[in-house]
Amino acid sequence: MRTAIISDIHSNLSALEAVLADIDQRKVQRIICLGDLIGYGPDPVACADLVAERCEWSLLGNHDFGVLYEPTNFNSAAEQAAYWTRRQFEAAAKEDTIAGERRWNFLGHLKVRVNDNNYLCVHGSPRRPINEYLFPDDAINNPHKLESIFGRFDRMCLVGHTHHPGVFTEDQEFWKPEELPESTFIVDPLQKGIINPGSVGQPRDGDPRASYAILDTDAGEDKHRIEFHRLPYDIDITVAKIHAIPELHDWLGDRLLEGR
Ligand code: ZN
Repeated sequence: MRTAIISDIHSNLSALEAVLADIDQRKVQRIICLGDLIGYGPDPVACADLVAERCEWSLLGNHDFGVLYEPTNFNSAAEQAAYWTRRQFEAAAKEDTIAGERRWNFLGHLKVRVNDNNYLCVHGSPRRPINEYLFPDDAINNPHKLESIFGRFDRMCLVGHTHHPGVFTEDQEFWKPEELPESTFIVDPLQKGIINPGSVGQPRDGDPRASYAILDTDAGEDKHRIEFHRLPYDIDITVAKIHAIPELHDWLGDRLLEGR
C-alpha cells in the first residue's frame, strides 16, 4: 500500500493544493496528516476542510492546539496569528452553521497519537507528542534524547513539527532526503527509525518548495520504502495574502520565500 504523509500545512492553501494534485498522480491509496493544519497562514478554513475531506486521519499539532484551546509558548506573531485564525473559524461557522458544526467536530477530534500498522505517528515526539521538537542536530548533540525517544516505540515513528524532512536512524544519524539515493529511504523489517516528511506549507530547511513523503509498504522482501518529494508551488499567492492581512506579521510571508 502507498500512503502519502503530509504535515505542517499551516493554512497555506496554495501549497496544500499543489501537494494534493501531485499525490493524485502518484498512485497513492490514502493520505495521513501529522498535524499543524493551521496557524501562521492565510487560509485556515479551506485547509482544514481539505484535510478533513482528503486525509484518512489527522493529528493535533501545537498550532492546532493553540488555535482551538490556548496558544502556549508562542511568540507574539504566532499568538496573534492563532487568535486571528480562531476568528476565521468563528466567522465561517456563523455564515454556514452546518459546515461549521462539521468543522468544529473534525478539529475537536484531531488525534494526539496514532499507531498505524506499527508506525507510531505523533506531531512532535513520542515523549511529548504535541510539543517536543526533534531536530536534525539532536542526532549529534543530544544522544540521550534520541535514545530515550527510540525507547518509546517498537518499529517506526512518524513525526512533523520541525519542518525539516529526513530520517533518524537508531545508530544516531540523521539523513536529509538529498543525501539519500533518489531521495528514498529503505526500511528493513527489523530496523527502527524516525521519519519526518517535512512541511507542506512552511519549509524551514532552506528549500522553499513544499515537502511531503510517500510510504510504500510493498517494496519487496518485507521492506518498506519512504520516498521524499519536493514540489514548487505558487508561493507569491500565499505571501500576498499574508501581507494583505494586518493581523498576520509580514515576516510570516517573507520566510516562505526563503524556506526559513
Ligand atoms: Zn508546524
